[in-house]
Amino acid sequence: MAKILCVLYPDPEVGYPPEYARDDIPTIASYANGQKAPVTDDIGFRPGELVGCVSGELGLRPYLESLGHELIVTSDKDGPNSEFERHLPDAEIVISQPFWPAYLTPDRIARAKKLKLAITAGIGSDHVDLAAATKNNITVAEVTGSNSISVAEHVVMMVLSLVRNYLPSHEYARNGGWNIADCVSRSYDVEGMKFGTIAAGRIGLAVLRRLKPFGLDLHYTDPHRLAPEIEKELGLTYHPEPHSLIQTMDIVNLQMPLYPSTEHFFNDELFSQMKRGAYLVNTARGKLVDRDAVVRALESGQLAGYAGDVWYPQPAPADHPWRTMPWNGMTPHISGTSLSAQARYAAGTLEILKWFFEKKPIPEVYFIAHEGKLAGAGAHAYKLT
Ligand code: NDP
Repeated sequence: MAKILCVLYPDPEVGYPPEYARDDIPTIASYANGQKAPVTDDIGFRPGELVGCVSGELGLRPYLESLGHELIVTSDKDGPNSEFERHLPDAEIVISQPFWPAYLTPDRIARAKKLKLAITAGIGSDHVDLAAATKNNITVAEVTGSNSISVAEHVVMMVLSLVRNYLPSHEYARNGGWNIADCVSRSYDVEGMKFGTIAAGRIGLAVLRRLKPFGLDLHYTDPHRLAPEIEKELGLTYHPEPHSLIQTMDIVNLQMPLYPSTEHFFNDELFSQMKRGAYLVNTARGKLVDRDAVVRALESGQLAGYAGDVWYPQPAPADHPWRTMPWNGMTPHISGTSLSAQARYAAGTLEILKWFFEKKPIPEVYFIAHEGKLAGAGAHAYKLT
């Protein structure tokens, strides 16, 4: 029987289960590219329940225990004395969410002698050292597509709230104030602005589609060009390399995966090339930008605003400068773990486990690494260097 080690974020401070605001969520059967969403017939929870935290267990316990497997669920993931470290040497499967990542470093992978499968409940597997995983023949799989729209919606929200100066204006109202001039002296319309996304994969393209009705001038850069009919439908301008986009945009969205050569992609030099007063939204990964260069760009006025939900490390320390830097619209890492998203990626995690234990093929699109190399979605999105 297998040991499955599952790392999830802590329960709500107000207790579990929380009081839900709604009684149901819409059923999403398939995604924009035609890929089917995970089947939710026999999941161990009601869609719309909080399953991404420890007590929610992604709803996996009934299935795994019916087969006699051992499921360990913990949020204690960091440091040599953590529960994660304690169970890792015996674990055959590790499940982790990017929101509360169990970092699978080369050292940890070396100690995880029985590890065969690392599942990302969600999207984005950079918390696994993919070079070490491929070297050790560990399959890395994620629930591709499960939260792409969740993140795209978050990006649209952040673009609007930065440009329109929503969050500071809300604070004025909460604090009893009514100085309209203070609120609007940094408030603009997005209409007519130039918006560019760095990477137009599932999320980047969904963001472009959602922003089209706002009357923005839409641009993108990506190693692979989108189909001509999509470019025409959305009126897109393609930039073969990111620099021309970065230099001319009012708003830049960062949506590329994190791998060794994209780490600190945005640094002082790149910020200095942007238009003064540009906005940057990053829901991809915190390490794509140099932490202190963002602070400097906001303090100097080179950037008019920065918003995102991804940090490094996660959880971010209480004194992380992005919590307090000016004109930021940061949230904890939440965009891809709405209750709606959880229903899909928890169901997708169950599907992957079933395929694994029933020795059925896992769909190619769910693979990040397999049989000693990058595979499936991972072969497109990631590089080992
Ligand atoms: P996809 O794999 O669909 O798209 C990634 C895109 O990035 C691909 O089009 C790829 O190009 C492109 N790309 C890779 N390298 C570069 C580069 N150096 N410059 C420009 N583009 C590049 O992934 P998703 O859209 O689903 O997700 C993107 C990222 O968003 C994830 O990797 C993850 O880090 C993050 N994410 C964050 C979430 C959150 O909750 N905040 C949730 C989900 C994802 P091509 O394939 O054409 O070569």
